Amino acid sequence: MPFTFLSKAKPTNNIDNLSSTAMALCSTFCPRIPINFRAKPISSFTSKPLFSLSFKVYSSQATDASSQDKFTGRVGFLGLGIMGSPMAQNLIKAGCDVTVWNRTKSKCDPLISLGAKHGSSPEEVAANCDVTFSMLADPESAIDVACGKNGAVSGMGPGKGYVDVSTVDVATAKLISGHIKATGASFLEAPVSGSKKPAEDGQLIFLTAGDRALYDSVASLLDIMGKSRFYLGEVGNGAAMKLVVNMIMGSMMASFSEGILLSKKVGLDPNVLVEVVSQGAISAPMFSVKGPPMVKSQYPTAFPLKHQQKDLRLALGLAESVSQSTPIAAAANELYKVAKSYGLSDEDFSAVIEALKAKSHNTV
Ligand code: NAP
Repeated sequence: MPFTFLSKAKPTNNIDNLSSTAMALCSTFCPRIPINFRAKPISSFTSKPLFSLSFKVYSSQATDASSQDKFTGRVGFLGLGIMGSPMAQNLIKAGCDVTVWNRTKSKCDPLISLGAKHGSSPEEVAANCDVTFSMLADPESAIDVACGKNGAVSGMGPGKGYVDVSTVDVATAKLISGHIKATGASFLEAPVSGSKKPAEDGQLIFLTAGDRALYDSVASLLDIMGKSRFYLGEVGNGAAMKLVVNMIMGSMMASFSEGILLSKKVGLDPNVLVEVVSQGAISAPMFSVKGPPMVKSQYPTAFPLKHQQKDLRLALGLAESVSQSTPIAAAANELYKVAKSYGLSDEDFSAVIEALKAKSHNTV
């Protein structure tokens, strides 16, 4: 199955437009360094290559036929949290016929006022739409909304498509895919890299896998919500890629937190540390954007800490499934668990630094 990467030619030099997640991915998948993709497939994951590599850059003038075919059907959107709301909003603003549903109904109201229709259940949304997107918190909610009572599966059928953009594990992606496809519908997993701001700006990175025909048919929708998209082959590869990316990000943030606190304790100005880091080889927009507020103990939520811990937990499960050693991620996961136990679940994941402060207080 060919691996395909397509990228919108949008400017990305404004640091505010770059999310921590997007850039964690970007460091590996920057379009300017496609040579990185020519590395061997992850041999520890499977003896067969996960995908063959064909590199392709998409711009607004690109000849990619699928992206030129504007999707004109009805679009459903399930899950209107930090990510789902701006993604659905961008579809509405682009003129799509969108029907929304969210467990907490009040979150639908701003989108309804922008022109969205409201479905009373995931089933009703799926029944009334040609393609339904879902952006749920975790594997449990993704399964429940798709396969539970009045779930999307009950409204699916031949000719329809389900695109799950939630971050879940491989088994969950396969489970939901199986239920959707049993109705005769098509399935695409498409977890996103990029956080609140990239979601608002239509700058997400889609890590897709599943039915290629569905990928082609929703390409124009993905391009409204995102700046690039990868097609990674069979279902599970999107989840795996997303978990690896967020495993790296979670460890980076934990290490950055240690550095900020250490610099302060030895009498350095942590703001200067952030500046030094930003000018060197380990520079990352995540550090530049999150660093200054972290120094001030401020953690405005873009990516909830509970979701970062969930992603580390799922990534550790993925590593366990192939006996890959991941001691750094395991240590980072412990730190996020401590942060959760301090009531920081709904803070931004950069609040993980608080777990280290508490630790150092306890040991002094
Ligand atoms: P969020 O703000 O916590 O929103 C979660 C959504 O899931 C809400 O719509 C919530 O409904 C719904 N939900 C939770 N449990 C449910 C259940 N049992 N039944 C039905 N609906 C349920 O999360 P988010 O930040 O938008 O993230 C959504 C997904 O994207 C997660 O998988 C996350 O890991 C991933 N992601 C997030 C970011 C980010 O930066 N935030 C970036 C990339 C990927 P209610 O409104 O009723 O609670």
